[in-house]
Amino acid sequence: RAAFDRIRDLDGNLRALLAKDEPRSLALARAADARLGAGERTPVLGLPIVLKDNLHWSGLPMTCGSRVLDGYVAPYDATVVRRLLEAGAVPIAKANLDEFAMGSSGEYSAFGPTRNPWDPSRVPGGSSSGSVVSVAAGYAPLALGSDTGGSVRLPASFCNVTALRPTYGVLSRYGLTAMASSLDQVGPIAATAEDLALAFQVMAGVDPQDSTSVDLPEAERLAPLRAADLKGLRIGLPKEYFAEGLEPAVRAVLDGALREFERLGARLVEVSLPHTRCAIDTYYLLCTSEVSSNLSRFDGVRFGLRVRPSEGGLPEMIAETRDQGLGSEVKRRILLGTFCLSKGYYDAFYLKALKARTLITGDFHAAFAEADILASPVSPGTAFPFGAKTEDPLAMYLADAFTVPASLAGLPCLSMPAGFTGGLPVGIQLIGPALSDVRLLEAAHAFQ
Ligand code: GLN
Repeated sequence: RAAFDRIRDLDGNLRALLAKDEPRSLALARAADARLGAGERTPVLGLPIVLKDNLHWSGLPMTCGSRVLDGYVAPYDATVVRRLLEAGAVPIAKANLDEFAMGSSGEYSAFGPTRNPWDPSRVPGGSSSGSVVSVAAGYAPLALGSDTGGSVRLPASFCNVTALRPTYGVLSRYGLTAMASSLDQVGPIAATAEDLALAFQVMAGVDPQDSTSVDLPEAERLAPLRAADLKGLRIGLPKEYFAEGLEPAVRAVLDGALREFERLGARLVEVSLPHTRCAIDTYYLLCTSEVSSNLSRFDGVRFGLRVRPSEGGLPEMIAETRDQGLGSEVKRRILLGTFCLSKGYYDAFYLKALKARTLITGDFHAAFAEADILASPVSPGTAFPFGAKTEDPLAMYLADAFTVPASLAGLPCLSMPAGFTGGLPVGIQLIGPALSDVRLLEAAHAFQ
């Protein structure tokens, strides 16, 4: 009830949530269910959680922030949602997002933008805007987002919370609406790494429903997080990330956080990720290609919206449904991706991007010979005012420069609060080798 009071007081202004009435009655009934308390004591028993509205929660509408899913009701639970439900968590709402998780600011939802609780004239970051704001504004201690190229890390840094993008495959994608399948991961969001670890432990584990699912090695399975000793931990600072373009005030906050890591016993070493300059191009070629393929399923036949034009047959119905149902950023990506994958350009764009992805991944492998984890900015600046980048898609894409490389390489990474400048939060990103998710959370926990 306290969560719903908080939502009632704040969400008229922040607009983080989409569905809340139906979930409210479900949640109150579930919270009152004595059987919840009778079972095993799990770390999330009775815990209110918020779900990004591209995750399936059986029986509830799922919009993906798009008109094209008008009327669609989820027929099953996503695996991560099912595991949280089985452990006694209490979902309380579905959260707003950039349409189909495409965006960096939270401004591209068909249901209007979400606002940043630290300054409501600014964006919260995206695409998991509503999930992150739900934690930042105290609606719930845990939310789930998704991270394809930075969608939990960027808003976490803009809103002063902690968010994990796990190693690709560690959390099941079954029931997460596909945007770019080779990059999509579910990402938990909480105040601290310690809280994230509790949720992560409940959700991880191989899922036969997701063919890319992998298990964490035994040593990485968690009990409660150890208070890691950072003595001797080599933290690599990729010099390409601490370069031109990084706002000096953000740099100063990061320097402070890095000094704190040193005080805790870590050693800072400079490393190089030379193909960083190709990362945005590579990401947006691969992402749009996969988007064009994945979103072809929204055709007015199978899911949600169907618009029947007064004349014409099936092709006209499909065209009209997609035209009216999808927003301009989604259309832009479908067009770009279709172009990249077309016969004449496949080698020049898609195939080349795949090769660049291999080079970017190789850079990380080389860096992890010299460092145990990497630390970097999450974004070149702090939360920006509404409208600052919506007219210029390229400027919006560049906000992801520091988050897409680790996504392309499939590596675990997180964003956590590093400090403030000008009254706005600044996050720091930690990146680890594949399957080091728990060690990464422990390093963050030691800092926090
Ligand atoms: N901002 C990036 C994009 O628009 C990342 C989105 C995401 O991670 N879902 O593609």
